[in-house]
Amino acid sequence: MKGMIFDLKHYAIHDGPGIRATVFFKGCPLHCLWCHNPEGISPEKELMLMPNRCARCGDCVRACKYGALAQKEDGEVVVDRSRCTLCGDCEQVCQREAISLVGREMSIEDILAEVEKDRIFFDQSGGGVTLTGGEPLFQPELAEALIDRLRQVGIHVALDTSGFAPEETFLWIAQKSDLVLFDLKVMDDEQHKKFVGVSNRLILKNLRALDKTGKPIWIRFPLIPGVNDGLENLKAMADFLLELKSVKMLNVLPYHKGGMEKVRRLDQGDQFEIFEPPSQAIIDSAINYFTDRGLIAKQGG
Ligand code: SF4
Ligand code: SF4
Repeated sequence: MKGMIFDLKHYAIHDGPGIRATVFFKGCPLHCLWCHNPEGISPEKELMLMPNRCARCGDCVRACKYGALAQKEDGEVVVDRSRCTLCGDCEQVCQREAISLVGREMSIEDILAEVEKDRIFFDQSGGGVTLTGGEPLFQPELAEALIDRLRQVGIHVALDTSGFAPEETFLWIAQKSDLVLFDLKVMDDEQHKKFVGVSNRLILKNLRALDKTGKPIWIRFPLIPGVNDGLENLKAMADFLLELKSVKMLNVLPYHKGGMEKVRRLDQGDQFEIFEPPSQAIIDSAINYFTDRGLIAKQGG
């Protein structure tokens, strides 16, 4: 079995306990306006151009048989995505790694071979592998098979998910993992639709259902001023979480603009919004609120 992966990071320390390898599944059914990993939304390969690395040599333009690349007078490379067949010839000739295809097909054994390199760090730090994305449950067969294989070889597995998947699929796969990192963004349904593109009803229903199984859950809350830092949202979130029994931690993840550079590289500027990162005072205020309400909350994950 193979699936579409857009990154595999080693030595991650913000994606669950200990030192971890993080596997990024390509494809996501949500469309958060602040997305940090816009290259993870489409389930298909995509062409990414990094102008800051480009030497403007024109090799990629000459290599493209489909007329999808051109250079402006000043040498800047431009892409006509309607002509691009994702053949990868431009990537092959670029000496600067300035143009590349995002997304590669990997088998379970390919992924296992990569993460096994970090086994000693997992063992020493209480770490393991985190499945993230995109949305791992967008490729449910791959997610299930990978979790099964990792657990078979004794590697701790965390599933980082938005919870936006059919309940049966969600519960089946979530229960196979050792820990679920559950993303919770906005509590008001209309606001959720506005900022995330879908209703949050299924997400909240799935979280309640998972909680009943007793599987340990860490909530991941991306804090974005003007979107979800208001008292009304914090209160609704605390009220909801305090009814649950399996939530062990609430990770407050301050928004940063890192995704915006990737948005430009993918020519997706019109699909996202730029927000301001929260000040430390806003972050502390949110954490203090949750802590005062009796939740275990901390900055970062
Ligand atoms: S081959 Fe690479 S460095 Fe040369 S113009 Fe194309 S993207 Fe830029
Ligand atoms: S991937 Fe192929 S078709 Fe697309 S720009 Fe590169 S060389 Fe041209």
